[in-house]
Amino acid sequence: LAKLGLPKSTQIIGHYAVIKPIGKGSFSEVKLAIDLKSGEKFALKMIPTEGIETDDRIKSSVSREVELLKLMDHPNIVRLHDTVDTPTHLCLVMEYVLGGELFDHVCKNYEQTTETDAKRIFLQLVDVVAYLHGNNIIHRDLKLENILLTELYPSPTGPIIKLTDFGLARFIDPSSPILTTRCGSEEYAAPELLINGKYDGRQTDIWSLGIILYVLLVGYLPFDLEPGQTKRQFYYKIAQANYKFPKPEKESGRRATISEEAKDLVKMILQSNPKRRATLDQIKQHRWLNE
Ligand code: ADP
Ligand code: MG
Repeated sequence: LAKLGLPKSTQIIGHYAVIKPIGKGSFSEVKLAIDLKSGEKFALKMIPTEGIETDDRIKSSVSREVELLKLMDHPNIVRLHDTVDTPTHLCLVMEYVLGGELFDHVCKNYEQTTETDAKRIFLQLVDVVAYLHGNNIIHRDLKLENILLTELYPSPTGPIIKLTDFGLARFIDPSSPILTTRCGSEEYAAPELLINGKYDGRQTDIWSLGIILYVLLVGYLPFDLEPGQTKRQFYYKIAQANYKFPKPEKESGRRATISEEAKDLVKMILQSNPKRRATLDQIKQHRWLNE
């Protein structure tokens, strides 16, 4: 520890020294850690495995997360390096992605970014989701908080993303793909998942892609529970796919200049009827992504 300039009180997990917290999710805390053997930095996702809040469902989803991450081999998916089991936590030792969440990036830098930046990010995301679905895996929690950037903005290479958080991901049987577990964030949830509770996870992942694309273009969510709005009204707006783009005459800066091609792609994806929603192939072929 002294050699690394770390205080004696540093928490040690396996052969990893915990440096500082870097993220928080619904069940877990993520910390920056150093491998005492190699000096390499990692992100340690610590999932509590004891206590009143931990039930069997969480435990099985954790082992699924580990199993799935082990199988993943894609440049835009976070790598799982190791796992450490402690009496109180299961720790996923993951590649450390230092640019932070796409969520914070959009909040802070929206006005300084361009539609081309949005396109670069979205293309990578479409590629990752095609990889997952091609392997009969659905993610079910695609959102800006679960997409990380490899470099701080502005970066010379342009934004490179890493998808993380496979806590809700699972395999599907393509011959009977219908699922009934309601999960994920409501802001990103497709109408059929939110309202009927029966859904094809590939189509709901694609809806989430549409929400992410909208945020990349506009800088805020298309559907958000507004003050004074009831949950029912909020769900109704999603069910109707009732979102709007900002009006150029009322807005200035980037929001006022979203291209018609980009809007058209959002429209093709955010279709409330999953049968009419764009498929990944249709998205890939869309002119906005090919110009
Ligand atoms: P949860 O399943 O509890 O939502 P996540 O896996 O999404 O947990 O991790 C929570 C947060 O921790 C993420 O939103 C992100 O900010 C941060 N984080 C997760 N994985 C990494 C990583 N590999 N590198 C850097 N930060 C990470
Ligand atoms: Mg998360």
